[in-house]
Amino acid sequence: MDQTRAHHPVLYLVIPCYNEEQGLGVCAETLREYFRTTLRELVSPDSRVLFVDDGSTDNTWGILQALHAGDTLFEAVRLSRNRGHQMALYAGMMEAKDKADCVITIDADLQQDIRVMPQFLAQYSEGCDVVYGIRNSRKTDGFFKRWSATLYYKMMRFLGVDLVEQSADYRLLSAQALEELAEYRESNLFIRGIVPTLGLKSGAVHFDVRERTLGTSKYTLRKMTGLAADGITSFSIRPLRIIMVLGILISVASLIKIIHAVWEAYFGTPISGWASLTVSIWFLGGVNFIALGIIGEYIGRTYMESKKRPRYFISDTLLHAGGESVTHDSAGDNAQKDAVPEKES
Ligand code: UDP
Ligand code: MG
Repeated sequence: MDQTRAHHPVLYLVIPCYNEEQGLGVCAETLREYFRTTLRELVSPDSRVLFVDDGSTDNTWGILQALHAGDTLFEAVRLSRNRGHQMALYAGMMEAKDKADCVITIDADLQQDIRVMPQFLAQYSEGCDVVYGIRNSRKTDGFFKRWSATLYYKMMRFLGVDLVEQSADYRLLSAQALEELAEYRESNLFIRGIVPTLGLKSGAVHFDVRERTLGTSKYTLRKMTGLAADGITSFSIRPLRIIMVLGILISVASLIKIIHAVWEAYFGTPISGWASLTVSIWFLGGVNFIALGIIGEYIGRTYMESKKRPRYFISDTLLHAGGESVTHDSAGDNAQKDAVPEKES
C-alpha cells in the first residue's frame, strides 16, 4: 500500500465524447462549478478535465477548442477517427498517465452522479488503486438495456469472466493502475474486464444514474453488441469448449439412435419418416454453422490482434503547460497520421 499518497492529488477527469455538441457546454459548466466548489478542497490546482474527442463529425472539437482557450481547467485530445468508447477512454487515460496521481473516467452526458467523486478520492487516499463506481439501480435504463445488461453479466459469470457486477466505466484509477493498464497491448480492449485482473487494492462507491438529458445515446445496438462480443472473446475461450461438449452430446445421441434404427430394421418395424430426417439434417446444419461462426469469431480476432496495428492516432491535442496553452499536431507513440481501418465486428 502506498503510504506517501498526496494529500491533494492531481486528478484528471477523463471524458470520452462522440458527437456530444448538444451537451458538452452544460457538461463543462457543471464540472467547472464542481471543481471550483467541492473539489477545490480535495484536489491539486493542477487537476484537469481531459476530453477525448472520439472522431466526432459534429462541432464537438470546436466546442473543446473554445473551452480550452477559455479555462486552463479544460484540456482535450482528438482521435483521428471514431475508435469507440473503450478506446477513447484508454487514449485519455494514457494521455493523463504521466501527469495525474489519479484519474476518474465519466461519460460526457454526466448520467453518473458526480457528487460521489469525493468518496472516490477518499478511498484513493486510503490506499485504493482502483475504485469502482457501482450503479444503484438501472431504473433509468429502458427495458431492453436493463434486461440485456443483466443477462450479459450472468453469461459472463457462466463463462468464467471476473466482472464487478453493475460497474460500468465510472471509476477511479491511480497512477500505478494506469501504469499497469498501459502494459495491455491488445486492440480488442474491454477495460472493465481488464481492471479486475490487475489485482490491485480496490474499493467501491455506489452511485445513482440519471436519465440522459444532454443529447442522445451514442451507443448504437451495433456498438453494444460489439462491446459484448469483445468482452467475451477477450476473456474467455469457454464458448469453444461448449461447442466441443455440444458436439460430443450430439454424437452420443445419434449413435444411440443409429443402434436403435438398426435394431428396428432387423427385429421390429423399420422407422419411416422423411420429416424426422429432414428436421435433424437442418438442425445439425444450423448447429454446425453456429459452431463455425463462434470459431470464426475467435480466429478473426486472433488475426486482428496478430497484426499489432496501432490502436488509435491522436490528431490534435489541446493541453496546458504551466498555465500556458500549447497545441501540437500529434502526440505520443501514435505519431503517424494514417487512418487504420476499423476492425470488423
Ligand atoms: N462514446 C464514445 N465513442 C463512441 C460512442 C460513445 O466516445 O463511439 C462516448 C459518449 O460520448 C459518452 C460515452 O461514450 O460520453 C457513453 O456513451 P452514451 O452515453 O451514448 O452511452 P449510454 O449511456 O447510452 O450507454
Ligand atoms: Mg450515457
